[in-house]
Amino acid sequence: MDWEKLTDYAWGSVETEFMTLCKYDAQADKKWSKCETVPYGDLSIPPRASVLNYGQGLFEGMKAQRTEDGRIVIFRPEMNARRAQYGCERLLMPPVPTDVFVDAVKQCVLANAKWVPPKGQGTLYIRPIVFGSGPILGLAPAPSYTFCIYVSPVGSYFKGNQLTPIKIKIEESFTRAAKGGSGGVKAIGNYAPSLMPQKKSKEEGFDNCLYLDAEEQKYLEEIGTSNIFVVKGKTIMTPAVKGGGDPEDTILEGITRDSIIQVCKDKGYEVVEKRVSVDEALECDEAMTVGTAVVVSPIGELHYKGKVQKLGVGPVTQDIYDTLLGIQTGTHEDKRGWTVYLD
Ligand SMILES: *Cc1c(COP(=O)(O)O)cnc(C)c1O
Repeated sequence: MDWEKLTDYAWGSVETEFMTLCKYDAQADKKWSKCETVPYGDLSIPPRASVLNYGQGLFEGMKAQRTEDGRIVIFRPEMNARRAQYGCERLLMPPVPTDVFVDAVKQCVLANAKWVPPKGQGTLYIRPIVFGSGPILGLAPAPSYTFCIYVSPVGSYFKGNQLTPIKIKIEESFTRAAKGGSGGVKAIGNYAPSLMPQKKSKEEGFDNCLYLDAEEQKYLEEIGTSNIFVVKGKTIMTPAVKGGGDPEDTILEGITRDSIIQVCKDKGYEVVEKRVSVDEALECDEAMTVGTAVVVSPIGELHYKGKVQKLGVGPVTQDIYDTLLGIQTGTHEDKRGWTVYLD
């Protein structure tokens, strides 16, 4: 791979050699099998698979990165395992135990080690999926499940380099999740309905749209697959979540979000988790969207009903980006043991 050319490929379109698979049979031993790493290729499932008919499935997103000296490191993998577990519970799928999940991630990354780009030239995106692969026609949980992990080397998510400010439209008609629904878990069914609003916002010249709460359409929630922070003076605000897959949650509890909250408190910022209104957002000094895929992406323009809040890449956004990336790639002290070295 010519890593200089990675950004010529659409994000996530590069295929690698291996994937990792585990199976669960609810009618036999009721245990996740030992994971196997096999050549990357098509999966065979019956048309009656519950994932195809009823969307019984979820995904996770993680990254493997290289340190300056070329070692491979992943970030807080047990958090993804935990989130996948409460997602499985919400969708009546058998939770994948943390050790099975983390071992499978390690196996898959190590088998594809040559696809982890050198530091500064990209990262290896890791995509675990859990889904009902067994046949069921009546609406009910599937009799068997598949846990699969595949990977793809990626550059920056939005066009331009990592700290290129993006243009965001605050969405006025579509919403993403309502209380009591599944917004707090990475259920696959949450994401297909976001394609149309995303496409519309791109056609209108934005990089993506930001959803408001479904009840009042007054408070910020998040962007399609990433959380939001707004900065006013020395205060950093982000919409509150209960976490743990609480059915009241309409916002996905991001691991990047959680890491930034902890790191910013250490650094002496005032961090406030609360309902953040559109009006507050339109008066902020800086805003950023954060997640594994987008990392920390500065918002350069926030548009709402003809109003525009223009923002630059401010010092707080830059500080958060440098610190998070530094911890993830071993140049900043990792006080909490978040990084896991694979070699
Ligand atoms: C995955 C995801 C995030 C970000 O979570 P991270 O763990 O930080 O990658 C935020 N919002 C939604 C809707 C997501 O699907």
